[in-house]
Amino acid sequence: MYKQMIYTAGSFQEYVMEDYDKREKLKEFFLKIKNCEGCELSRSRTRFVFGSGNACALVMFVGEAPGKNEDLQGLPFVGQAGKLLDELLDSIGFDRSEVFIANILKCRPPGNRDPRIEEINICKGYLLEQIKIIDPKIICTLGKFSTQLLLNTDKGINTLRGKVFKVDSRIIMPINHPAAVLYTPSRMEILKQDFKKIKMLIDSDGEIPACEEDISSLESENTGDKQNKDEQLGLF
Ligand code: URA
Repeated sequence: MYKQMIYTAGSFQEYVMEDYDKREKLKEFFLKIKNCEGCELSRSRTRFVFGSGNACALVMFVGEAPGKNEDLQGLPFVGQAGKLLDELLDSIGFDRSEVFIANILKCRPPGNRDPRIEEINICKGYLLEQIKIIDPKIICTLGKFSTQLLLNTDKGINTLRGKVFKVDSRIIMPINHPAAVLYTPSRMEILKQDFKKIKMLIDSDGEIPACEEDISSLESENTGDKQNKDEQLGLF
């Protein structure tokens, strides 16, 4: 790690170069993809929703796709689900500016319908590049779509939520999507408990607890056949 004085925003600031590089790379990546016309969703979107937060975050949250408010504001999780996410972050002593929040899809599916496999396949490269640049130690997947994408599984969110997976050198922890919990308030307590677990993981500095799941435990629920999983999800 080395530091350098860099002239930004009208004055010299001292930067840890690794952090500065991440910010610059993420900004550059945003500028490169913000006018994407890779699929039909680009025609109906108001704003491209890249994601927001800290380029050097230890923790990243990955949702599904922008909704109406996100589409209008160009920011992720700014509606009711976002309000809940902010409250949950606050409950573990975090502000959204300290984490990075993104979605699989960067444009709103009309009427908030579920993302289609073709759209996920076109857009997933953007998310994977964001993960590569930010390099968070912990990724919390919000709901079924981002969980199945990043764990390359077809298992359901209710089976996976609250479990901790080690994938490469990262921790992936699926949790229920805040919007789903707003819809089914009986799941609120579970989500709160899962946030406590996220805090535990952060406090352990990304060290995975010895007893937790291994990615190899994710056999397909249907056949256990990896090819089948890949075909169903068209992922990776
Ligand atoms: N739901 C999501 O998955 N993402 C958002 O940005 C908002 C709601």
